[in-house]
Amino acid sequence: MCGIVGYVGPQQAAPILVEGLARLEHRGYDSAGLAVAGSKGSLRVAKAAGRVRPLADALPKRFSGHTGLGHTRWATHGPPTDANAHPHTDAEQRVAVVHNGILDNAHDVRRRLVAEGVELASDTDTEVLAHLVARSTAPTLQEKVVEALAQVTGTWGLAVVHADHPGEIVVARHGSPLILGVGDGEMYVASDLAAIVRHTTSVVVLDDGELASVSAGGFTTTTGKVASEVDVDPAAYDAGEHDSFMHKEMLEQPETTARMLQGRLDERFGTTHLGGLHLDPRELRGVRRVKVLGCGSAYYVGQMGAGLVEELARIPADAEPASEFRYRNPIIEPDTLYVAVSQSGETIDTLLAVQEIRRKGGRVIGLVNVVGSAIAREVDGGIYLHAGPEVAVASTKALSHMFLGFALLSLQLGRVRDLSVADGRRLVQALERLPEQVAEVLALEPQLVEVAKELAVADSLFFIGRVRGFPVAREGAQKFKEITYRHAEAYQTSELKHGPLALISPDVPTVAIVPDDELVGRNVAALHEVAARGGPLVVVTHEGVDLGDLDVTRVDVPRSEVELDPLLLTVPLQLLAYHAATHLGLDVDKPRNLAKSVTVE
Ligand code: GLU
Repeated sequence: MCGIVGYVGPQQAAPILVEGLARLEHRGYDSAGLAVAGSKGSLRVAKAAGRVRPLADALPKRFSGHTGLGHTRWATHGPPTDANAHPHTDAEQRVAVVHNGILDNAHDVRRRLVAEGVELASDTDTEVLAHLVARSTAPTLQEKVVEALAQVTGTWGLAVVHADHPGEIVVARHGSPLILGVGDGEMYVASDLAAIVRHTTSVVVLDDGELASVSAGGFTTTTGKVASEVDVDPAAYDAGEHDSFMHKEMLEQPETTARMLQGRLDERFGTTHLGGLHLDPRELRGVRRVKVLGCGSAYYVGQMGAGLVEELARIPADAEPASEFRYRNPIIEPDTLYVAVSQSGETIDTLLAVQEIRRKGGRVIGLVNVVGSAIAREVDGGIYLHAGPEVAVASTKALSHMFLGFALLSLQLGRVRDLSVADGRRLVQALERLPEQVAEVLALEPQLVEVAKELAVADSLFFIGRVRGFPVAREGAQKFKEITYRHAEAYQTSELKHGPLALISPDVPTVAIVPDDELVGRNVAALHEVAARGGPLVVVTHEGVDLGDLDVTRVDVPRSEVELDPLLLTVPLQLLAYHAATHLGLDVDKPRNLAKSVTVE
């Protein structure tokens, strides 16, 4: 989950590394560090707990050198302290290592090294790699790294420099993303395109098990890869006029969702075009069950998606956290379509679930944003989300795109079964209207700022909804707790009286999702039960829904077709969480203890 950046070439490495780290900070931000190889080959290291900026400000003036590595950490082994920050070195500081991932046998290797007289300077798993590389007698740096890696188990994306091998960086990937960037007489290394896209768009994406040796003049990988151009707009990695990436990403949803739908809707036949699925109509007809796997918010959208599949295609469908799935020896059925959902395409729990399904002969497709990511490469087919880069840790636009991905998939699954052309057209037309309607929801921002201020003062909140509205409530609560650090809990509205009503009081507000659907009467009745206990209510609903004489704060969103309502009900909850967090003075883009792309188990 950390960020790695490396540079070798004619320029001073430190400023490039600092800039790269700032762009990677969303990947982990409890500590940061740099190692630069000076002209005489010696390594200099600067590292500290905390953010990149203070580290950069405190860098010694003469931190010069043309080869270097940088890292932002998301601690797995050992607290975020200066000593535990990466890069890690051997005692003589001849070798520096940055690492993303977890070494499972670090404890044993640490013990062995200590028994051999090595003094360990940190509590991390990573440090052993620096010692193992330093102790290797192999002639080349790449061979030293291979020797070191042969002694560890676990996952890694790592980069190594060595004072005796100036002008060279060796990188290795096994479970954590790494790319090389090819410049003009210079080379970059990174865990994420964001770190280097301003310098080059000519990249090499390493595969698991692959190593590469990089110098100013070029690179070699163990599989003989060549570079290819990636089609990205570097400006997409800037927040522009927005205070935060999260705000930017919420507000660009009308534009990005319209782009995602382009070319995929077929109004004439009321269906969708999804070339990347690699499933013909006969195969689609053969699907008897759909199982969605995702983690965190992707799991909640997966629940919305499973609902869509059941409604439109009448195929039994459910969603499950990918992080649990493979631990219960799952039954993989040949006529089940598995759908893996991940913004980054690198979420390790989801990736491992995909691998388990494939190992057992199951068919799995991906709903993934990052093109060429690990999950995108492992699945049998899929739907790219085309949301553009998402930098904020709290996902917003990618979730909306996931929902649309499910809508497109369900529509196609439905149309090869019993969904009529007329119903298909009704949904295609509704999908065409959605981007514009998302813009209408975003236009409610001034009202939502005020509602958010009211909610921000509560220590604890409920989010409630039923059937289609329940995953909306779950996602709303998740977003709220992630960035405001308030306790927010989601419940089925129908379950209130079976327990949580005991907690309702004037201090515990409830955000209720009440679409104008077949359950509206039951939902309104439940609101009365909350109001009778003095619980403050914010109701996200549709214009015209009669809330009687209830004293509530009402947020009206536009109507879509009922099946597609969850998207428009979710967007205001993003804004509520965002404005509650900014009202509390919190850093919305970098919520505590979290990081973007969970690439460790
Ligand atoms: N396991 C390493 C540590 O705790 C790396 C964590 C990361 O991916 O940032 O230092």
